[in-house]
Amino acid sequence: MSVTEPVPTPVLRLAAASFGYSDRVVVSHVDLTIEPGDVIALLGPNGSGKSTLVRGILGLAEHLGGEVEFFGVPRDRFTDHTRIGYVPQRHSLSASVRATAEEVVAVGRLSHRPWWKPAGTADAAIVRKALATVGLGDRMKTDVSTLSGGQQRRVLIARALASQPDILVMDEPTAGVDVASQHVLADVLHHLAEQGTTMLIVTHELEALELIVNRIVCLRDGVIDFDGSPTAYAAHELAHEPGHHHHLHVTAPDHHDTGPLRSPQVVPKPKGGEHA
Ligand code: ADP
Ligand code: MG
Repeated sequence: MSVTEPVPTPVLRLAAASFGYSDRVVVSHVDLTIEPGDVIALLGPNGSGKSTLVRGILGLAEHLGGEVEFFGVPRDRFTDHTRIGYVPQRHSLSASVRATAEEVVAVGRLSHRPWWKPAGTADAAIVRKALATVGLGDRMKTDVSTLSGGQQRRVLIARALASQPDILVMDEPTAGVDVASQHVLADVLHHLAEQGTTMLIVTHELEALELIVNRIVCLRDGVIDFDGSPTAYAAHELAHEPGHHHHLHVTAPDHHDTGPLRSPQVVPKPKGGEHA
């Protein structure tokens, strides 16, 4: 690397970060730096703290220690929230809400303009493009309650895309949807990766994403157990579980000094933990 080459500011930097709920530490001492263009699969057994980690990053779970920085700015001074797109776990659209796909995705534009200013043609174009990106360009006027679970997930991804974030954080985007939709979602994520979108994707379906991720991070009992390339991950899995290449539930012996860190009481099957 030449000296004149600028060092990119990391999208996200966690240093010894801990997150949890009302003083109960669930995820602890996480060191994680996400560079622009990284596509990271976050793996780990149910209850290992994946959702808590992403929710903590987004400020939706309590920040109980360490540092969180977005684009080089400590999170408590970071105000440009539209730069982070989030698709929560297991979220589908309520059947009671009558709204078209276009209307739902337009919500992604709200934070980009003052409340009194109506959506302009630029907003409309961004909404249209976001829906086209997830393969629903022909469903703009469709009532979301009539869409399949997989299509609703795609609408939610389009909503996150419409806010034109610098990083897209998705919690099990392909879980609980039919196989056909899983393939479409994997294609959508491929397409986004090709465009250079930085992504942090919680998933159990690594195989569907293995061609697009450049890094794999594994959580186990609230601590990072592995962080490296897919190749290194395969070797790590083979070393710990011969014959279980790509086995997703890391059960490697605990080589971390968990010392004073109390082990979270892992509930093996929190609601929504199972996947189809
Ligand atoms: P994962 O996404 O890896 O399945 P979670 O982050 O959902 O794991 O859960 C990790 C631990 O945090 C579990 O023991 C779970 O019961 C607990 N937990 C999750 N959400 C909450 C919450 N809102 N309040 C208290 N504890 C929670
Ligand atoms: Mg989860």
